Amino acid sequence: MTVQSRTTTAAPLTIAAAVADRGRVVDHTFARNGEPAPPRLAWFVDGLARAMRARGYTEVGEPGPTVQVVLHALDADEPRPYRRKNAPTFVVALGYVPEPPTDLLRTGYPLLVQGLANLAVLVSDGPTGPIASFVTLEQGTYRVDHAGDDGQFFTAVLERVEPLATSRLVIANEFLPDLPEALWSGDDQTAQITRAGERLGALDLLPAAFPIEEILSERDLRHVKLLYGIGGLSYGNVSARRLPPTESAWGPEFWMSASGVDKANLREIGRDILLVRGYEPARNSIILSIPPEVKPNRVSVDAIEHWMIYREHPDVHAILHVHAWIKGTPATEINYPCGTVELATSVADLVRQAPDPTRAVVGQKNHGLTITGHSLDEIFARIDGHIVRAVPMD
Ligand SMILES: [Zn+2]
Repeated sequence: MTVQSRTTTAAPLTIAAAVADRGRVVDHTFARNGEPAPPRLAWFVDGLARAMRARGYTEVGEPGPTVQVVLHALDADEPRPYRRKNAPTFVVALGYVPEPPTDLLRTGYPLLVQGLANLAVLVSDGPTGPIASFVTLEQGTYRVDHAGDDGQFFTAVLERVEPLATSRLVIANEFLPDLPEALWSGDDQTAQITRAGERLGALDLLPAAFPIEEILSERDLRHVKLLYGIGGLSYGNVSARRLPPTESAWGPEFWMSASGVDKANLREIGRDILLVRGYEPARNSIILSIPPEVKPNRVSVDAIEHWMIYREHPDVHAILHVHAWIKGTPATEINYPCGTVELATSVADLVRQAPDPTRAVVGQKNHGLTITGHSLDEIFARIDGHIVRAVPMD
C-alpha cells in the first residue's frame, strides 16, 4: 500500500495524546509490579512469569517505559493503579478473589479500570482447582480452568494474554479544521448515521457505558482516556462512506461516530460524527476533517478497521459495529482489543472471506458483531428482528 504524503501547506492541528503514541517498548519484555500477598496470587504471578520466559520473554527487574507487559498484582479489595509511563505498555491487573465471581463483569471491571490496566485476571480457587477469570476492556469475559497440570494451565493463560499484549493501538487523531462549509451540518450520509444511532437506542442495543467517572479520580480518568484513546467508555460505532465516493491522499473518506458520545443522539459534525479522511501510517494516525470552530471529539477507536474495509471493498458503503449478537452467526476467535491494527486486520480478513463482503456479518466472540452493507438503512432492514443484546462469552 502506498499513501502519498500530503502536499498542501495546511499544518495539521494535532491533538494526538502525547503519552499515547510516543516512545517504544522493547518487544518481549515484562516486569512485575505490586506485592501478590495471597499465596494463590503469588503462585499465579510466578507461573505466568515462567510461561512468559519459556515463550522467549525477558523479565526485567523494574517496570518502566520500555517494558512491553507489566504484571500488576493488586489487592482486589483496594485496587491501586499502575501508572504507566508509556501507552504501548500493556498492563495486566492480577487480583485474588477466593471464589470465582458469579458476576465476573461486575467484580472484575472495576479492578480493570481502577488498576488502569488493559486486562484484568481474577484468580480464584474452584472446586477442582485454580481458575483464571478474564475481563477485557470491551467487557469480554472468559475463564481458563486448571485441569491438573500447571504447565498446560499457564500456557493456556498466556495464550489469552499474549494477543492482547502484543497488539498495536491506532489511537492518534489528527484534526484538520478544513471541512467544507457545505458539510458543517452534515449530508445524507450523516443523517443515516444519526438514524442508525437512534435505532440502536430504540432496540436497546446500547449498553450503558460503564460509569468510570464514578470510580476514578479526575486525574486517573484523564489518564485512562489518553491511554485507551477514548473519550469515555461507550460501545459500538457506525460509519458511512462519503457519497459519491471520495478518496484523499490517506485513502477512502467516510463519516464515523465519535468515541465516548451518546450513540442514540449523534448530531453535531466534529463532535458526534466526524469525517475520516484516512489513515497515515508514518504517524500511525487517523486524519479527520472538522469545521473550524468545533472542539472535536476523538473518532471511534475502530476507525482503522472501517478504513481497511472501505479501502478493500468499494461497494461497501456502510459499517455497523455493535456489542450484540445475531443467532447463527459463526463466532470467530478474535481476541484483540478494539482499535488495534490486529483486530482491524482480522475483521477485514473475515469480511473478505464472507460469501458477499458487501453484506457480511462477522461475529467476534466475547465482543460483538461487525456488519457491512450498501447503506446503514439497508443494514438495519436486514438485522431488524434478529439482533439480540447477549453476546456469547466463554
Ligand atoms: Zn467493540
